[in-house]
Amino acid sequence: MNKRAVNPTFLLLLILSAAVINGCKNPSKVLAVQSDQQPELYVIRDVNIIPMTADNRIIPHATVVVKDKKILSINEVVPASAKVIDGKGKWLIPGLIDMHVHNISDISFGQSYPTKGANFFPDNQDFMLLYVANGVTTTLELSARPEHFGQRNEIIKGKVIGPRIALAALIDGGDGTGMIANTPSDGRQTVRVAKGMGYDFIKVYSSLSIETYDAIVDEAAKQGMKVLGHIPNAFKGQLQNAFVKNFTMVAHAEEFSKQTDGFSTADAERFAQLAKQSGTWLSPTLITMVRIAQQARTLDSVKNLPYLQYVHPLVSSKWLTSNQYNRNTSPDRVAYFEKMVAFHVRLVKAFKDAGVPMVAGTDAGTSGVVWGYSLHDELELLVNAGLTTEEALAAATRSAASWLQIGDKLGTIEPGKFADMVLLNANPLEDISNTRNIAGVFVNGRWVTHTTISTMLADLAKRNAANKGKFEWSRRAEPM
Ligand SMILES: [Zn+2]
Repeated sequence: MNKRAVNPTFLLLLILSAAVINGCKNPSKVLAVQSDQQPELYVIRDVNIIPMTADNRIIPHATVVVKDKKILSINEVVPASAKVIDGKGKWLIPGLIDMHVHNISDISFGQSYPTKGANFFPDNQDFMLLYVANGVTTTLELSARPEHFGQRNEIIKGKVIGPRIALAALIDGGDGTGMIANTPSDGRQTVRVAKGMGYDFIKVYSSLSIETYDAIVDEAAKQGMKVLGHIPNAFKGQLQNAFVKNFTMVAHAEEFSKQTDGFSTADAERFAQLAKQSGTWLSPTLITMVRIAQQARTLDSVKNLPYLQYVHPLVSSKWLTSNQYNRNTSPDRVAYFEKMVAFHVRLVKAFKDAGVPMVAGTDAGTSGVVWGYSLHDELELLVNAGLTTEEALAAATRSAASWLQIGDKLGTIEPGKFADMVLLNANPLEDISNTRNIAGVFVNGRWVTHTTISTMLADLAKRNAANKGKFEWSRRAEPM
């Protein structure tokens, strides 16, 4: 059991003094401190558990004890000192997992500091709040940079309350920036470097050559790293050759729609068979293309997003003033995006019929796709595409944890698992949109109530509105 080494009083002083230095009082920081001082022992009484185990038998009116970050017991003796949470009429599900995110962390948009380094430093708690507020307790970062390790460590250390984060290193071909490989030996070496740096997975990208792709996937298997991502453009016309052992997940439905001209159901079924034969899963990220199509039509779709107020002003400035989907848009472009949206629905049906496992991912961070909130959008779209509510939930809990190779620790509600859980006011099996109706969230055994979340969100929206003029995308290279 990992007992936190930091003395809570010391942490409180540290954070308070940081607040004084910054000249502002940030309730986000206060949450981190309060949670640090929380008891480690809880009991949820009279709650309906949706365990999301394979048989998923609902446990009505249950008593759940949480101790030292883990689920200690269900319907057993309750320790006297436990803090009581009333679960009457409520539903408990495992914490949600978003399998495709792009997190905002420290980044350099310019060369303002003489020895280089970042010039944009988003508040990690403000950012992670979006996940916590939505019951998203695990994420898979699909273009991880060294800064994301630091971001993750702040959460592990307990200084910030946020989700667990798995990190995938992105490898592309061509002459871009980041990890680039244009030969098989470079591909293998890049995988070994990524392994050495501590990345969990390898993400392959669109401009890799076939030979380099093959070498990357093979080397990753040798290094014990699963590969997921895009289907390189080079495979157009020979798609079957991309589906090799250890290419374990396609990160977008769009990767398939790029491979068809007719958008036919027969094509969707052919793709599903390819994936099935190689044991490759699919993260459809339906919400991404829905939002892209909306933005190609009008930017009002972004302006009117109810959660835009929680997005950092620099990011919302980018989405509204430098929107790659709206720029040079045309009726043809809109029609093309909408065709893809429709095809993706048929694709999900075909994959379901073929028995290919699917997980919920959202590509959060793509313009118009807001972290945390997008997972509920995705769940609704998966159900609209033909998944049952239970299948959609599994895609964001048990199945996702299993792909991440942490299914023995997370993804279901069972004694011994980590206490990542969402308490809902209504049954999500009856209506999947009930996953939005959150009474509170257990994040790594810390209980965060709806009231706390609402207070923090309101404060964040206020500060974002006040800071709007300070962060303009067109001036991002300047010191911030
Ligand atoms: Zn992505």
